Amino acid sequence: MDIELNATNKAELISIGSVQVDKSLLPNQLKSKATAGPGAGGSSIFLRSGNRRVRLTINDFSPLRAVPEDEHVVVMKGDDVIARGVLERPLCHCPEQAYITLSEKCVYDCQFCPVPKMQGEIKDSAKVLQMVAEAHATGELKAISLTSGVAVSPKKEVQRAVDIIKQLTREYDLPIGVSVYPTTGSSEELYSAGACEVKYNVETMDPKLFRRFCPDLSLYTVLDALDTAVNIFGRNRVSSNFIIGLGESDEIVRKGIKHLTDRCIIPILRPISPHPLRKEVKINRPDAERLLKLGSMLKDMLDRQSLCVDESRTMCLFCTGCDLAPHIDL
Ligand code: SF4
Repeated sequence: MDIELNATNKAELISIGSVQVDKSLLPNQLKSKATAGPGAGGSSIFLRSGNRRVRLTINDFSPLRAVPEDEHVVVMKGDDVIARGVLERPLCHCPEQAYITLSEKCVYDCQFCPVPKMQGEIKDSAKVLQMVAEAHATGELKAISLTSGVAVSPKKEVQRAVDIIKQLTREYDLPIGVSVYPTTGSSEELYSAGACEVKYNVETMDPKLFRRFCPDLSLYTVLDALDTAVNIFGRNRVSSNFIIGLGESDEIVRKGIKHLTDRCIIPILRPISPHPLRKEVKINRPDAERLLKLGSMLKDMLDRQSLCVDESRTMCLFCTGCDLAPHIDL
């Protein structure tokens, strides 16, 4: 039986999203803590086989268990082996990247996101440069990615990102990707500073759900900024997280994917994660069947526009741990 990671078993693992891990088997350097977005605060492991990778949150109550087997790890559900691979070492947040959250706090209050409730740290450029230097010293660093909550205003976050990118480009010849809330002119500024890829998140393409879940933000501002970003960064360099599991229909997802891919924006279909700080929010994590169906819909529409996920050099499309990535997994 083939138990390497493939689209089918990766979809099953992602649909569950968590795993029990015997802590004695897991040195600290194989764990990663998320500091941004809906998964913030949890520790994870990364399992790799071939060119596929999956991230699973460590949870003692998960139906999945990670068990050592020679130099490999197998993920089991009951008595069944679902997948076999090796554990990868995350550098900052994920393997092969220094993916750093500049501001771990946010003045906005998107209902699925724990960051506004966490009031984490704000990293200055010295701290970011130190984190990148430590990741680089491993010899495994292939990309630098920056993201941020909005500590004061979107403009200030863009300015901070621009200043830090300028410092990073003086020291490293590595691709730099950025994901922030956009402002007028943010794409020009980030590109001129030295970023090669950008991600502005639509979160959902259902306008009613957007108003309910992101009451302080504007979907149209994000969509406008994505159009501008494609003009500046080019094809295969602009992406957007599109959360699955907020109550959107598959038809809304289809139309949303079409809207984005017609404009050469690559949607990342991101299964929603429940979070203990957002217990009041009703979410519906997609099952494996839905993930595969929506993933193949996405692949078809990317192919129609000749967009290639496997050309991505930074951020989530380079990592692929949380999602079914067309052209890599599908
Ligand atoms: S896919 Fe994105 S959010 Fe998920 S682990 Fe990788 S970099 Fe982090």
